[in-house]
Amino acid sequence: MNKSKTLPKRSDVPVEYKWRLEDIYPSDSDWEKDVQKAKQLADQLAGLKGKLGQSGNDLLAALKLQDELLQTLDQVFVYARMRRDEDNANSTYQGLTDRATSLSTQAYGAISYIQPEILEIPTDELEKWISEVSGLAHYRILLDEITRFKPHTLSSEEEALLANMSELASAPNKIYGMLSNADMKFPMITDENGEEVELTKGRYTQFMESKDRRVRKEAFDALYETFGKFRNTIAASLTSAVKGDVFYARTRKYPSALYAALFADNVDLSVYDNLIATIHEHLPLMHRYIALRKKLLGVDELHMYDLYVPIVPEVDMKIPYDQAVETIKVALKPLGEEYGRVLAEGFSKGWIDVYENEGKTSGAYSWGAYTTHPFVLMNYQDNVNNMFTLAHEMGHALHSYHSNHAQPYTYADYKIFVAEVASTLNEALLMHHLLETTTDKAQRMYLINYYLEQFRGTVFRQTMFAEFEKIVHEKEEQGEPLTADSLSEIYRELNVAYHGPDMVVDKQVDLEWARIPHFYRNFYVYKYATGFSAATSLSKQILEEGQPAVDRYLNFLKGGSSDYPLNLLKNAGVDMTTPDPIREGLAVFKELLEEMEQLVSKG
Ligand SMILES: [Zn+2]
Repeated sequence: MNKSKTLPKRSDVPVEYKWRLEDIYPSDSDWEKDVQKAKQLADQLAGLKGKLGQSGNDLLAALKLQDELLQTLDQVFVYARMRRDEDNANSTYQGLTDRATSLSTQAYGAISYIQPEILEIPTDELEKWISEVSGLAHYRILLDEITRFKPHTLSSEEEALLANMSELASAPNKIYGMLSNADMKFPMITDENGEEVELTKGRYTQFMESKDRRVRKEAFDALYETFGKFRNTIAASLTSAVKGDVFYARTRKYPSALYAALFADNVDLSVYDNLIATIHEHLPLMHRYIALRKKLLGVDELHMYDLYVPIVPEVDMKIPYDQAVETIKVALKPLGEEYGRVLAEGFSKGWIDVYENEGKTSGAYSWGAYTTHPFVLMNYQDNVNNMFTLAHEMGHALHSYHSNHAQPYTYADYKIFVAEVASTLNEALLMHHLLETTTDKAQRMYLINYYLEQFRGTVFRQTMFAEFEKIVHEKEEQGEPLTADSLSEIYRELNVAYHGPDMVVDKQVDLEWARIPHFYRNFYVYKYATGFSAATSLSKQILEEGQPAVDRYLNFLKGGSSDYPLNLLKNAGVDMTTPDPIREGLAVFKELLEEMEQLVSKG
C-alpha cells in the first residue's frame, strides 16, 4: 500500500470505472421534481388520517399512495446519498442529502398513523374488504404482516406511552456508544518499529494481526485493561439494555425476549436453538482448527491474542480489477445463463463505482432504487480480499435486480434474514472455483485459510455471541442478578467451550462482552451464522445438482419479501428449522480443514 500517493480527484477517474447515477435522475432538477412529488404525496396521505377504517376503498387508496410515496422517497434518498458518497466534500450533495433526510423524517411522520389504523380494523371486516374490493388482494401479504402483530399490540393509550418511552429505552445503547467511542481513551503502546502509538479501536484490529507477538500482547493487555476500568459501568448499560428487551417483550405479551425478537422475522425459536445445538455438536472441528493454528504459529501456548494473526504467509496474489471481473464471471457460471447475463450487464453498464478517489466514502456496499438497476460502491485494491468483496456485493446487487424485476414495489425489498445469503453464496462459489484452479501450495493454503477464518468469524464466533445473548436474557427473565462478574463468568465458559483445550483463554477476554456493540441490538448476530450456513449449503447443492438447484435459487432471488424468509429459503432447498443446512456448511469447513492439515503435515 502506497499511502504517500495522493488519491485522484473524482473528475479524474475514467468514466468506465464510475457508476452511472444518471440512470436514476438524468439531472439534479429531475431529482427536485421528485422531491416535490414526494411532498405532495405525503400531504395527500396525511389527509387520509382517521379514514382508513371507513371502507375498503379508503384503505386501498391509502396503501396505493403509500407505495408511491415510499418508492419516490427511496429514489430521492438513494440518489442524494450516493452522489454524496462520490465525494463527501461536495457541498451540493451534502445539501441534497440533508434535504432528503428531513423529507424522509417528515414523510414517515405523516404516514405513521397507517399501521395503527389498520390494526384497529376488525379482522372480519378486513377480510370482507379484501374479498370485495378489487385491488386490495394485492396487499394481502402486507396486511397479514401488519395484523400478525395484533396480539402484541396494546391499546392506543398504552402504545402512546410506549412510544414516548422509546428515547429512554435506547439510552443504554447511546450511553455505551458515547463511552466506548468518544470518552474512552486507550494508552500508548510500542509498535513493531519501536514507536509509541496511541491504541485505538481501529488500530487494535491491525495490532491483532501483527506478526510481532509482543505487539499483539501489549495491545491486547492495554485494550482490556482500559475496558476493565469501566467494567461496572458497561455492565450496568448492558444489563439495562437487556432489562429493556425483557420489559418490552413482557409488556407486549411475548413469552420471552428471544421470542419477541424472532417474531419480527416470523422465525421460530427452533431455528435459534437448532443453530446453537448444531454448532455445539461440531465444536470439535473448531478445536481442531485451533490446534492447527497453534501448530502453524509454532507456539507453546496459544493465547487469545494469537487468534487473528495470519497463519499462512501472505502470498503475492495481485488481482487487478479487470482480472477480478473475469474470474468472478467464470466462478459464477454454475448459476446459469440468466444469472450470467445480468452479471455481465452489471459489470459493463455503469452499476459499479470501482476505485477510490478523494473524498469518496470508504468500504463497499450495494444499494439502489426500485426502478433502476442496482449500484455497487467499491474502493477496489488489487488483492484477493477485494475480489471477494466484489463478488459479495454483486450477490446483493443481483438479488435486488431479480427481486425488483419479479416483484411489485410492495414486495420487492428482501429481509435482512435472507440478504446475506445471496452475497455469501457468491463468495462460496468463487472460493470453490479458485480452489479448483489453484495448484500452487502456498496460494492454496492462503485461500483455504481465508475461508476457514470466515467460518470461524461468521459461524462459530457469531453463534457464541448468540448463545451469550440467550443466556443473559434468560437469566434476567428468571430474576437472576447480572453484574460485571456474572457476565464475565458466562462469557468465559463459552470461550472455553468454543475454543477447546489448545487455547489458553486469558482472563482479560472474559470482558469481551464489554466491547461488542452488537449486544445492544438484541438477537441480531445469529443471522450472520444462519445466512452463511444457508449460503454454503445452497452453493453445494448448486454445484452438485446443477439446474434444478439453480432454478430453485433463482426463484429465491426473485422472491423479495413476497413470503417469509424461512419459507423462501425452504423453497430454495434449505430448511433452517433442521440441523441439515448448518451440518452441510460445516462439512465444507471440515473438508477444507482436513486439506489444510494435510498440507501442513507435508511440510
Ligand atoms: Zn453483505
